[in-house]
Amino acid sequence: METGCIFCDIAHEKTSTELLYKNQHLVVFKDIKPHAPVHILIVPKRHIRSVNDLTEADQPLVSELIMTARDMARQAGIHESGYKLVFNVEHGGGQMIFHLHLHLIGGWVQQQG
Ligand SMILES: [Zn+2]
Repeated sequence: METGCIFCDIAHEKTSTELLYKNQHLVVFKDIKPHAPVHILIVPKRHIRSVNDLTEADQPLVSELIMTARDMARQAGIHESGYKLVFNVEHGGGQMIFHLHLHLIGGWVQQQG
């Protein structure tokens, strides 16, 4: 747990943020500034700064983040219409909060034909 890290606070339920899902390794909640009708964040409980800070030992965790995102897409009803899974990495990659998180983004209205 990192003092002053908003995602550590959310992951350890020190805020009023509603969690859509949690288990012993991660939490899931809505992005407060959504870029799409569905914009959900999958966040490990352990403070990891960015993708650059992942180690070999984190491979099961990364897999779990992605598989959880897949399940959340299904739960949100966007698994068939489609979605993006995005890791923004460092400032140039658009990372705003320096605690690793996976964006699940989708729910756009589909154009016919
Ligand atoms: Zn943190």
